[in-house]
Amino acid sequence: MALSLYDTALRQKAPFAPIRPGRAGIYTCGPTVYRYAHIGNLRTYLLTDVLVRALRFSGFSTFTVQNITDMGHMHEEALERIEDKVVAAARAAGKTAREIAAFFTEAFFRDCGRMNFLPADVYPRASEHVTEMIGIVKELESRGVAYEEGGYLYFDVTRAKGYGELSGAHLGEGEAAERTDVSIHRHKKRPEDFTLWLPAEPGREFSWDSPWGLGWPGWHIECAAMAIKYLGPEFDIHVGGIDLRFPHHENSRAMAMTATDKRFASRWLHAAHLLVDGHKMSKSMKNEYTLEDLDARGVAPMDFRYYCLTLHYRTPMNFTWGGQEAAARAFSRLRESLARSAEGGDGSPEAAEGFRRRFREALEDDLNIPRAIGIVHEAARAGLPGGVLRALAREWDAVLGLGLAEAAAEGLARPAAGGEETPVPAEVKELAARREEARKAGDFTEADALRARIREAGYEVIDVKEGAPRLKKR
Ligand code: AMP
Ligand code: ZN
Repeated sequence: MALSLYDTALRQKAPFAPIRPGRAGIYTCGPTVYRYAHIGNLRTYLLTDVLVRALRFSGFSTFTVQNITDMGHMHEEALERIEDKVVAAARAAGKTAREIAAFFTEAFFRDCGRMNFLPADVYPRASEHVTEMIGIVKELESRGVAYEEGGYLYFDVTRAKGYGELSGAHLGEGEAAERTDVSIHRHKKRPEDFTLWLPAEPGREFSWDSPWGLGWPGWHIECAAMAIKYLGPEFDIHVGGIDLRFPHHENSRAMAMTATDKRFASRWLHAAHLLVDGHKMSKSMKNEYTLEDLDARGVAPMDFRYYCLTLHYRTPMNFTWGGQEAAARAFSRLRESLARSAEGGDGSPEAAEGFRRRFREALEDDLNIPRAIGIVHEAARAGLPGGVLRALAREWDAVLGLGLAEAAAEGLARPAAGGEETPVPAEVKELAARREEARKAGDFTEADALRARIREAGYEVIDVKEGAPRLKKR
């Protein structure tokens, strides 16, 4: 069986066949760095992590791009004020937009490390790709699909082939019209047309010269430009939360396809949302939980990761503290039974093949991780010979990323006290120490740059609650 994935545009599962045999190119919408990631964001990023792990498990090599939106993502509720989220947060905190973005980018990487996400291959910053964005807008203009009204440059959606195919939005009705029809844009020809270029307000930090005057690019063009730059005009999979399907993804796709005459993403994967106690998360409800909030209640990131993995990514997740506790208990039982069984039972080694097959089938069926986890529980209690079970735990944990291999090894022999893993090279330690200094001094741009160099050297910095950050081989 081949890996089958649900495609939002097709509205059904279909076998995954990459454009270039054996290689999968993936673009995933990253954070808008004006606040800490909440657990809903993390659930969506987990989909990319599991997807990449599953692709590798199925024998594909992967190239993943996750953008950092450090400007230009507008407050929908504040469109009238044309305020971008990073700029607004900076104003509120009395900092520069760059400082805010650098601080929360760093926080994002820290959260990704704690969630055990495999790092993306590139994390492009929107503010560093404005030249590419301007290039696409010029192309659109030369094709006659952009028009200027009231100082704004708009994209004419009626000129985009297949507009609405991805999200099912129909021009002139419902969601499409409601979400974008605000009075600042009253000059637009129709509600669905969206901004390609906006004029800069006086003193705006992030602004660029362009053929349309000093200004800044619209949000949707950011992802289109960065995806095309790093993955080409046609690539395999685009991932994001379901809320981005419209207008963000519909619009990115419309622009990219119109500017390049190519297909853009072959397939779209969307993660269902996370609710808290049945409610949408919001500032006013005080339920926009972060990993810190979980930590304060004694919930480790891996417990939360396990909780998420017990639900299929297309099923909305209703996070409750009770549900989280139950998940943490089940996770702990799984680790214990792996540790206990690692000594070996008297079952037949052939039974492993059945588990192996079923696990793979679950995974290949649109990433059915909840079913796969059920199989791991079963295998852990099946009395398999120790070596066989440990091998399974290793294989499967490459997909689940829950530390199951370690749990299975623990039952056998705990490493001698102080027993070190392979020593970290001195120059990497040195970079880590410099990064720590930069962080303490509040120089997050420098800290960010140092983290990138550490990555290039093949290591990941894992920040821990107390003491010096740890270094892990990538
Ligand atoms: P943002 O930083 O708000 O632009 O969102 C980053 C990612 O998180 C996007 O892919 C969103 O679709 C996703 N996201 C936002 N809110 C939720 C939520 N409540 N549950 C799951 N994913 C979410
Ligand atoms: Zn995006």
